[in-house]
Amino acid sequence: MNETHAIINLNALEHNISRLREITPNSQLIAVVKANAYGHGMVKLAQFIEPKVDGFAVARIEEGVILRDHGIKIPIILLEGIFSKDDMLLVSRYNFEIAIHNREQLSWLESCNVLQPIKVWLKIDTGMHRLGIHPSLVSNYYKQLCQLKNVAQIGIMSHFCMSDTLNHPYTDKQLDLFKQLHQTIDVSHPKFAGSSIAASGGILHYPESHLNTVRPGLIMYGISPIDETFASDYNFKPVMSLHSKLIAIRELEAGEPVGYGLKWCTNTATKIGVVALGYGDGFPRDIPEGTPVWINGRKAFIVGNISMDMMTVNLGLESKDCVGDEVEFWGEHIPIEELAKTIGVISYELVTKVTSRVKFSYTTDF
Ligand SMILES: *Cc1c(COP(=O)(O)O)cnc(C)c1O
Repeated sequence: MNETHAIINLNALEHNISRLREITPNSQLIAVVKANAYGHGMVKLAQFIEPKVDGFAVARIEEGVILRDHGIKIPIILLEGIFSKDDMLLVSRYNFEIAIHNREQLSWLESCNVLQPIKVWLKIDTGMHRLGIHPSLVSNYYKQLCQLKNVAQIGIMSHFCMSDTLNHPYTDKQLDLFKQLHQTIDVSHPKFAGSSIAASGGILHYPESHLNTVRPGLIMYGISPIDETFASDYNFKPVMSLHSKLIAIRELEAGEPVGYGLKWCTNTATKIGVVALGYGDGFPRDIPEGTPVWINGRKAFIVGNISMDMMTVNLGLESKDCVGDEVEFWGEHIPIEELAKTIGVISYELVTKVTSRVKFSYTTDF
């Protein structure tokens, strides 16, 4: 492999799904594969894990269509539901499950004809105040959904906004409210099909939040959503690693600037490695001094401004690195959680921003 490339370790993915099954033995497992499976490649991943999970969740209807067009047969949930009445045609044709979080969606659902009744997820706002119906409307919406001929099954769902922080009281508050609302609906109705609130954070730290369906995203990819922790702390393994190689080594005297904008200057004579990866591959441009890469068994630090296609790394005067040597940006040696913290972004951002120029390979050779 000699290009700028991401390796997707399918064994790690499989391991992570087994870990999820261990942690949530009584829950359906809905794999969240929105945003191109967090940058990992939605179709490839979904095809690989379809036999191991109970369903997929995506954010946009187009993502669901791509999955079905590539042969995915298991349930697909549209986490934000539909955005227009016309979307119901696709929902019906492709047999999607949809979130219902506002009055418009309810009326579109009511006024269309579907090929066969569908499963819906009544989305409740338990405190994030992004999507979801107000708690006071839950029993009313639920009753209406029970009446609709287009509705085969009804789940209720909500989402935490603080579950990336350990033991935050707001998470308890949301969970308590969700359980309380659960009491107010008729769960003995034949259409009732369970409830779901936990994403990765809830899965790892709030066993009482698992209920009958969990929706893991980040942790399934082997990345911890919890501040100050690594996926390995929970015995999960990173799925994506990002690599490139040295394409030049420059020997510079003390006091010579490197790269655009004269941002950084050598203070002693040193060797600078030029690595073929830049912001055009999705690496952040705005990084602090001391951001590392991994090369030949050690960390070396990025210096100067990141360019579109390249970056420069201070290798040190005595270094023995050669043109062609491999560089890791995140993966086995540089945990993505650590890199994200250094840069001041979240890991979600790093993986989803890797661009299509990067070559992806999917492997079980680990
Ligand atoms: C993205 C998303 C998830 C998955 O979240 P992670 O933190 O990546 O596990 C689950 N549920 C909803 C509604 C989401 O939008």
